[in-house]
Amino acid sequence: MDEGGISGGRLRIDLGAIAANYRLIAGRVAPAEAGAVVKANAYGLGAVEVTRALRDAGCRLFFVAHLGEALALRPALPADLRLIVLNGLPPGAEALCAEAHVIPVLNSPEQARRWAEAARKTGRRLPAALQFDSGMGRLGMAAEDLAPLAADALFLSAVDLVMVMSHLACADTPEHPANRAQLARFEAAAALFPGIPRALANSGGAFLPAGFHADIVRAGIALYGGAPNRDGPNPMQPVVGLEARVIQIRTIAAGGAVGYGHSHVCERESRIATIGVGYADGLPRSLGNRGAAWHAGERLPIVGRVSMDSITIDVTALAPGRIGAGDWVELIGPHQPIDALADDADTISYEMLTSLGARYDRSYVDAATCNRGDTI
Ligand SMILES: *Cc1c(COP(=O)(O)O)cnc(C)c1O
Repeated sequence: MDEGGISGGRLRIDLGAIAANYRLIAGRVAPAEAGAVVKANAYGLGAVEVTRALRDAGCRLFFVAHLGEALALRPALPADLRLIVLNGLPPGAEALCAEAHVIPVLNSPEQARRWAEAARKTGRRLPAALQFDSGMGRLGMAAEDLAPLAADALFLSAVDLVMVMSHLACADTPEHPANRAQLARFEAAAALFPGIPRALANSGGAFLPAGFHADIVRAGIALYGGAPNRDGPNPMQPVVGLEARVIQIRTIAAGGAVGYGHSHVCERESRIATIGVGYADGLPRSLGNRGAAWHAGERLPIVGRVSMDSITIDVTALAPGRIGAGDWVELIGPHQPIDALADDADTISYEMLTSLGARYDRSYVDAATCNRGDTI
């Protein structure tokens, strides 16, 4: 049998490209520090493998969304790497968080109170990041919450503030006026905490002017090969390759229909290939009759609906000998970058990556050895 085992699809994750993308961002934002966002299992690509590759590339600061993600990842990380929980400090989890050497983002005065209280109980100063909502309208403290904290000597003696942060809502649209407005509000708020490192930019923010980089950048999607903004060509190296196996090819007569709901009717006699991946593998139903796969340099349109475990593509453009059962077609790769597939699916690279699921044969291209195809 062809390489790729017994799954309907194979996913190749290039850790060397992730390391190269990290170095590109770190170089761009220096002297600001580049931290890496590895929430949601490193955007679906494997938090442990990705974090190790980033550590080897020089990253010392990591962000996840939930305390549970941090507790799962912490044992895989050397003690000197800092791990920050973006979604804040869950009630009752203070001791767990402190014992695991995980750093919470304090998103409300109530969380700040609980963390200071935990520090007094543990008898040591506990590190935390403080988030200010500069205009995202999602997480963080209001301006009027910050001044009392900045003046609270008890709080400041109990909590070691490692960063004051905020999050940009429109960083992927460089000319959006909200970016400058958020920067101005953030700088005013951060001025209440002199000497504490400031963090504002995500991937998009790393490609905004230097003022947005502040002291620390939190890069996510760009590390994984997604375009950091909507302007021009994507400067990042592609990280993910996704191929699906052809499991059968059938000839459908003119007027014949394909798939659930008969949403595609063949105008002429057509050769229809069924490939072994579907919406259970993170290929959304919105790709039905819209997206495509690639083989031998040919774009092969998806026809009919996306099923749970399979997708039908029209391969009539390829002569019968050029594609057959067992062959692989490209879904993400040189012909079809992740952002192109996401566009066809009416979504974004973030959602595509985090939806990929567990059924693929996964292989990691090792950053250190460049051992292409090595499976971890
Ligand atoms: C997810 C997230 C990031 C990373 O964003 P990208 O656009 O993927 O670079 C940074 N900061 C916060 C607060 C986030 O939630």
